[in-house]
Amino acid sequence: MSNESLANLMTETRRFAPPAEVAADANITAAAYEAAATDRLGFWAEQARRLSWATPPTETLDWSNPPFAKWFADGRLNVSYNCVDRHVEAGHGDRVAIHFEGEPGDSRSLTYAELQRDVSRAAHALTELGVKAGDRVAIYMPMIPETVIAMLACARVGAPHSVVFGAFSADALATRIEDADARVVITADGGYRRGAPSALKPAVDEALTRPGAANVRSVLVVRRTGQDIPWTEGRDVWWHELTERQPSEHTPEAFEAEHPLFILYTSGTTGKPKGILHTSGGYLTQVSFTHHAVFDLKPETDVFWCTADVGWVTGHSYIVYGPLSNGATEVLYEGTPNTPHNGRWWEIVQKYGVTLLYTAPTAIRTCMKWGDDIPAKFNLTSLRVLGSVGEPINPEAWIWYRKHIGGDRTPVVDTWWQTETGGVMISPLPGVTEAKPGAAQVPLPGISATVVDDNGTEVPNGSGGYLTVTEPWPSMLRTIWGDDQRFLDTYWSRFEGKYFAGDGAKKDADGDIWLLGRVDDVMLVSGHNISTTEVESALVSHPKIAEAAVVGATDPQTTQSICAFVILRGGAAEEEGLIDELRAHVAKELGPIAKPKRILPVDELPKTRSGKIMRRLLRDVAENRQLGDVTTLTDSAVMDLIQAKLPTAA
Ligand code: ATP
Ligand code: MG
Repeated sequence: MSNESLANLMTETRRFAPPAEVAADANITAAAYEAAATDRLGFWAEQARRLSWATPPTETLDWSNPPFAKWFADGRLNVSYNCVDRHVEAGHGDRVAIHFEGEPGDSRSLTYAELQRDVSRAAHALTELGVKAGDRVAIYMPMIPETVIAMLACARVGAPHSVVFGAFSADALATRIEDADARVVITADGGYRRGAPSALKPAVDEALTRPGAANVRSVLVVRRTGQDIPWTEGRDVWWHELTERQPSEHTPEAFEAEHPLFILYTSGTTGKPKGILHTSGGYLTQVSFTHHAVFDLKPETDVFWCTADVGWVTGHSYIVYGPLSNGATEVLYEGTPNTPHNGRWWEIVQKYGVTLLYTAPTAIRTCMKWGDDIPAKFNLTSLRVLGSVGEPINPEAWIWYRKHIGGDRTPVVDTWWQTETGGVMISPLPGVTEAKPGAAQVPLPGISATVVDDNGTEVPNGSGGYLTVTEPWPSMLRTIWGDDQRFLDTYWSRFEGKYFAGDGAKKDADGDIWLLGRVDDVMLVSGHNISTTEVESALVSHPKIAEAAVVGATDPQTTQSICAFVILRGGAAEEEGLIDELRAHVAKELGPIAKPKRILPVDELPKTRSGKIMRRLLRDVAENRQLGDVTTLTDSAVMDLIQAKLPTAA
């Protein structure tokens, strides 16, 4: 974005006030913004008191060696105790913690008392395997309760976990095991995906043949599918055999607030994944507070469901640590949204009476593509707050979500955050904010974020630029594992004293923040910086388009030209004249400068395992280049299909 700030093309004027009944009983009111603005550190010190500390902290923030932060440094706590035991001690042992729904239709519910027993046994099991505080444990699992139990057991003994997506290859697993130098791997024989058992253990076996993984001494294996798997005597141990014979009580040890909790690799949307390090006290404070505030959680009555995979940060913060630290009842679903039918998610909402739903724009757009009639078959009236995370949500997808899932009644909270930020940073509050479709809008109380220009100066309302966080926050990453220099270079070198998130954003006339996609994805067309997100949203606002991905391809005349890949809605066929109609539609919505030069209908888009569109691969296609790193793609065959559709002269 050298010569001009991001063009501010889109105007979205629809507004949705918080429903009166949500506002009347909201966990957080507008007063929280004022309190935090007056005394930011005092505000966070108060939020830290949401947790149970073995030694309550007297310090809040130590910023004496920026950007290496310490939060609540003289406090001591056990994260697992906070997520499990204290709820049992408070008399909520019979409350369901997890309603597990397996893909084949098996289900079981685990109360907090049962979770305490299982986590305690698993903690003893890890100790028997020689795991000590500080040792890293890799977790490569399907979406089953044992995954949550394993994470909490690691936290309980102070062993940082590194969860790797169950769908990643042996190579991706091996590099993550090596980078974190993990000593133990927890896995399963397999999990159910798309109606069939899908093996996991063989990928672990293969990963462990790599020299970098030589330090792994034990592999703990959960039996989920019962499929035949290879077995290495002396190294492999069945989870059930080891945990069943452990005592069901375990005394958690308190660790320093800055004790490492986990390492998690970013999605790899923009390049080689980074091992993000999170620690205990500050992280848990922010995920607990944000889950309480953004979802307006009432633990006695709500049923929360975050559809993310635990292998993604959203799963860490809003399946495991946020909801469980708040004593929530939540749903954990193993499989895909279309197994055995396209209404599976809505059937689950109906079955468990889900009240708070958290999902990603990619899923919402997929449901739009499948058709409105599918959710209409189910009773979704229990829902009261809907959340979105992972990518900018196109206004049309936001409206669809509210209307067809939320019955035109529920607030929709568009939450902006990253693996690096640990918890939500920018989001409307359901009982406070008048919502604007497609905007994350306001930094949460206690968070200081703004949009700056090339020189790091805050832009005026109505202008675009770079999203930065201007003050440290409790759940901020502490470093990139083993690479402090990359931590400094990636996040802290672009703007003096500010955290640079890598995302473009604009401030509207009211000063509300709209995310415009990654800076790497911004296009430069005839001297104008144009946001991929805005062009995609314009395409998705056309009734025939369900999903769109836009990239800038090198162009001799205009520096870059806009190239769009689109998926048609409800299986519509490509008609004569559609491409011209779409180009005219974008010109009408955003102006002629944003009109795509090429539009290519496709069946699928390349996505990361966390559901984000990988524009860099589409750029490779649009520019006829060799594809870059595809290891974090869900399905690499998608790229072959897209390439096959391209006219060879392109
Ligand atoms: P990598 O950093 O390896 O390229 P990644 O950025 O996709 O991967 P994540 O940490 O999972 O890894 O994703 C964070 C990014 O997701 C944000 O920087 C932003 O680009 C996007 N994002 C998340 N939530 C939102 C949102 N509500 N609105 C807009 N963008 C969002
Ligand atoms: Mg990122």
